[in-house]
Amino acid sequence: EAALDVGFQTLLGWADEFRDIGVRANADTPADARSARTFAAEGIGLCRTEHMFFEGDRIGLMREMIFADSAKERRTVLDRLMPMQRGDFTALFEIMAGKPVCIRLFDPPLHEFLPHDKAGMRDLAEGLALPLSDVTARVEALAEYNPMLGLRGVRLGITVPEIYEMQARAIFQAAVAVSRRGDPVVPEIMIPLVSAMREVELVKVRVDAVAAAVRGETGVDFEYRLGVMVETPRAALRAEDIAQHASFLSFGTNDLTQMTYGLSRDDAGRFMSAYVQQGVYPEDPFHTLDVEGVGELLKMGAQRGRAGRPDVTLSICGEHGGSRAAIEFCREQGFDYVSCSPFRVPAARLSAAQLAIGDASKA
Ligand code: PEP
Ligand code: MG
Repeated sequence: EAALDVGFQTLLGWADEFRDIGVRANADTPADARSARTFAAEGIGLCRTEHMFFEGDRIGLMREMIFADSAKERRTVLDRLMPMQRGDFTALFEIMAGKPVCIRLFDPPLHEFLPHDKAGMRDLAEGLALPLSDVTARVEALAEYNPMLGLRGVRLGITVPEIYEMQARAIFQAAVAVSRRGDPVVPEIMIPLVSAMREVELVKVRVDAVAAAVRGETGVDFEYRLGVMVETPRAALRAEDIAQHASFLSFGTNDLTQMTYGLSRDDAGRFMSAYVQQGVYPEDPFHTLDVEGVGELLKMGAQRGRAGRPDVTLSICGEHGGSRAAIEFCREQGFDYVSCSPFRVPAARLSAAQLAIGDASKA
């Protein structure tokens, strides 16, 4: 369990008096959330939900869902996953005790939940009581040449809407349950991999409908915020109209860097050192925010987002979020907060304060 020295805590407390940009943590599990609290993160800026579908027998349910033949059947299977998700979100809301929690809806491609070897497929066929040929056919049908550029994120949210509906229901029920015991929880729901306004509109209609249903069922009139993860160049370019339907925009600089460079984040390691050594890239852009290129998209996205909605909340939640360079950049652009791994939160708080003090002494 994370802990902070008392002297260091005092220093961080002083730093917070000067700091003029928020610092949240990326946290997916109760342990992450407790670390976020220990390091005094102001909330969770990114809760990735996909790992929750691999745990225990949940992957079995995901597989059943993938092999279901109709939306109705998918819903029946997802109804069994919903209470588990509700438990996941209840724990996070409780630990964060009224601080904002931003939950990103399901992001990975579905084939990640399927076996790709013969033995695994045979086991699955047996488990689902299906002919092996049905299983291999479905695995082949879901295979993609470029899965990271394929049917994932909001594209899946729109083509298999039952998944997002289940998650929204779990989030709202958890928020109601925790609100009943204490301060009202206002959940933040974030849509991944958006590239067009219409995607947001379509998801919003469905999530609003789930919210209305849960309000009706519980008699509790809760609020929630819907936002967009800006991680494709097109989302940055179209931020003005996207912001019409999004109360916050959070820049996912991992995917945004990948897509801006046209460079796979999983394969870049093969030649990165040669590129950095020969000065093609000043630094590894996946580690150090590429202010010249990706930064231009952040700037443009922020400006356009504000044009669409003057009070849109702006943040960054990629791995860069905790670095001093990214904090400096985000402060200059008037971002509301950065979100980084819990263990980087103390350093981020200090960097943010240092930058603010530096500015004040220049003025
Ligand atoms: C991102 O793309 O920057 C991001 C935060 O999401 P993930 O790393 O989960 O793709
Ligand atoms: Mg991403």
